[in-house]
Amino acid sequence: MRWVKIQRRNLPRLSLPLHPNTTRRKTRQSQGIPREMPLLVMKFGGTSVASLDRIRRAAKRIGREVANGYDVIVIVSAMSGKTNELVGWVEETSNLYDAREYDAVVSSGEQVTAGLMALTLQEMDVPARSWSGWQVPLKTDSAHASARIKEIGTDNINAKFAEGMKVAVVAGFQGISPEGRTTTLGRGGSDTTAVAFAAAFDAERCDIYTDVDGVYTTDPRITDKARKLDRIAFEEMLELASLGAKVLQTRSVELAMRYNVRLRVLSSFEDNNENAGTLVCSEEDIMESNVVAGVAFVRDEAKMTLLSVADRPGIAAAIFGPLAEASVNVDMIVQNISEDGRTDMTFSLPVNQVERARQAMESIKASGDVNYAQLVTDEDVAKVSVVGIGMRSHAGVAAKMFSALQNEGINIRVITTSEIKVSVLIDRKYMELAVQALHDAFELEKAGV
Ligand code: ADP
Ligand code: ASP
Ligand code: MG
Repeated sequence: MRWVKIQRRNLPRLSLPLHPNTTRRKTRQSQGIPREMPLLVMKFGGTSVASLDRIRRAAKRIGREVANGYDVIVIVSAMSGKTNELVGWVEETSNLYDAREYDAVVSSGEQVTAGLMALTLQEMDVPARSWSGWQVPLKTDSAHASARIKEIGTDNINAKFAEGMKVAVVAGFQGISPEGRTTTLGRGGSDTTAVAFAAAFDAERCDIYTDVDGVYTTDPRITDKARKLDRIAFEEMLELASLGAKVLQTRSVELAMRYNVRLRVLSSFEDNNENAGTLVCSEEDIMESNVVAGVAFVRDEAKMTLLSVADRPGIAAAIFGPLAEASVNVDMIVQNISEDGRTDMTFSLPVNQVERARQAMESIKASGDVNYAQLVTDEDVAKVSVVGIGMRSHAGVAAKMFSALQNEGINIRVITTSEIKVSVLIDRKYMELAVQALHDAFELEKAGV
């Protein structure tokens, strides 16, 4: 099968310095590894390494791939719940914590599982070694807690493969900054570690083992009508992930799309055959798909409105500039029609950034940069989105979405659309109901509608 690369508009340029396939293959050979030695990346998420027993189960799976003739790079997450616990400790210790120390603490979870996995493999007579981010090295920028990967050095690990190591177990989610400090890649970052390794080492496949057996039409925890997709297009997966489907970290999908990584999501609890799980692939490789591929949601959103701001050039810049400086991730923005030269400006943001946003808005008022009558905050909203590349050629998706919500008596607070998605902000208490209603309305339980 030929893999065709799609260039996504607006995709930020990635600086992972990788080469076309042929050159990458040569690199491995020039490092003493025979051409015929194919390489797999296998990533195990938190629930898949949640206990020694589960680590053993994952190790058996890895052992089988080694027996099949693969060199394997294993990326591990922290045991499930561990990262949350570590984040909690940091927050309890320091309110406005130093992100460098946050990274020092939260990166530790992955180191434990990497070492335990290497030991478990050794116990099974599989030659294995663990690697922290800095040992690889996986180089990132200095944006602690949400660092971006710049480069992965392949020499150290390839040298060990050349000496007979069969499995490199790498701590996911972590890297090293130009200043030489440990960084982390943002929550869910081990997915991105895995895809980046698959690209850097020219892996045959990147398998993401998790607690579901693939990518579903929506989170199977919300409705049992959710249907597993055999294939999903990179662009759809990218939208679903960035709109809340946490089965893959958004950045991992960006990287897979850019470097044409053969990315598969599958269960670590079931026996998988060749066609198990979901393949994330180019649109061209999908025979049949629904107009809407899936429904995603973000539960913890908030909405802020500045009432009665002057409607003049520069006002949006004066509001959103300071919000960006305060690292507030503004998502939807609505400006009302103005009356008597004044308007209302509404925007949505993650609920845990409300305090930061409020401070920024109070300071622009105090400084006289923006004069508004009142700041109204609603912390009880959720975002629900429908996503599908079929929307490019099918009209009426938004209308169908709105009438499905209307039928349930759900009021829409804010709407945004793009070429392949429609998102609405609604009251949080209706979120599950909205997801189920949309899943039904677009008949996502059936393939090919
Ligand atoms: P891991 O610890 O393996 O990285 P995550 O918890 O990060 O696993 O991601 C897997 C979870 O993603 C599933 O348990 C599921 O609840 C959730 N999820 C959200 N949306 C989807 C979807 N569309 N398809 C599959 N799983 C989804
Ligand atoms: N352990 C990290 C987290 O929970 C990274 C990961 O598992 O992907 O976010
Ligand atoms: Mg995850």
